[in-house]
Amino acid sequence: MRYGHRKEPRNTHREDPRERQSWFEPRARIPAPRRRPQLPDRPQQRRVSEWAAARCDEIAGDVARGGLWRFTEVVADVLYPGVGVAVAAAQRATKWGPELVGLNDERGSDVKIGLVGSEQLGLWTIFRTRLGQSDPGPRPAWCTELPIGPVGAEGVRRESTIISGIEDAKPADVAGLLLTPPTAAAGTRLLARVDVRLRSGVLAVDPGDGRWQRRMFFTVVFPPSRGNTHHEHYRVVCPACGGRRLAQFRGFDVCSDCGWLDHQT
Ligand SMILES: [Zn+2]
Repeated sequence: MRYGHRKEPRNTHREDPRERQSWFEPRARIPAPRRRPQLPDRPQQRRVSEWAAARCDEIAGDVARGGLWRFTEVVADVLYPGVGVAVAAAQRATKWGPELVGLNDERGSDVKIGLVGSEQLGLWTIFRTRLGQSDPGPRPAWCTELPIGPVGAEGVRRESTIISGIEDAKPADVAGLLLTPPTAAAGTRLLARVDVRLRSGVLAVDPGDGRWQRRMFFTVVFPPSRGNTHHEHYRVVCPACGGRRLAQFRGFDVCSDCGWLDHQT
C-alpha cells in the first residue's frame, strides 16, 4: 500500500457525483425508516437480495482482512500513540491474523456491520458497508463525511490530520462490495482514508474506471482498559437506531444493527 498524509483537506478530486449524494446526504434529525434504495432494474434488485442474504465475511472479508487491516496497522500508532509496538510484535507472530466478526449476519440486513482485529491486541476496526447507492441510516456518529481526494505527500507523519493509503486489489476481492462486479481483468484499487482526530474514515473502491466509490465507513478502537471486562454501566437500547442488539467486547459495546459505538472512558 502506498501511504500519504495531508494537513488540510482539499476538495479538488475526481469523484462520481452520484456517490457524493448518496452516502453523505445530511443526516436526518429523526431516524428515517429503513428502506431499500430504488434500484433501476431487476438484476440490481436481485443483487441486493443476494447481498442481504450473505454473511459479512462473504461480502467484505477479503477487503477487511486485507487492505483495511493493513491500513489499520500502519496508522494505529498515529491514532493511538504507543500501540505500534504491540502491532509490530503481532505482525511478527507467524500464525497471527486478524479476526473478522460479522455482527448482523443471518438477519438478512442489507447493511453489514462488522469488526476486524484482535481481542488479544485490543485493536479493532469497526466497519459499516451497504450495497447500492444509498445508506439511509440511522448511522452512528463515526460515519464521517470524509472527502476522497488526492493522497498527498508520501509517508505517514504524526502531525497528519488525514492519512490515506492506496493499493491495487484483486477484482474478486472487491467484487462483493460493488453493485456491478468488475471484470476479472479490471484494474481495481482500494483507497483507505482516516481522519486522525476522529479515528474514523472511509474506504473507497475504484472498480477499474478511475472513479472512487465510497463503500465502507470505519472507525478504529483501542479501549484504554482492555484488561477489564465490560462497562460499568449497561445499556440495553441503542441510542442511534433504537435496536436492542448491543454486542459487548472488551472495553466497548457496539450496536450490531447500525454500528453505534460506546467506548469505555
Ligand atoms: Zn444501533
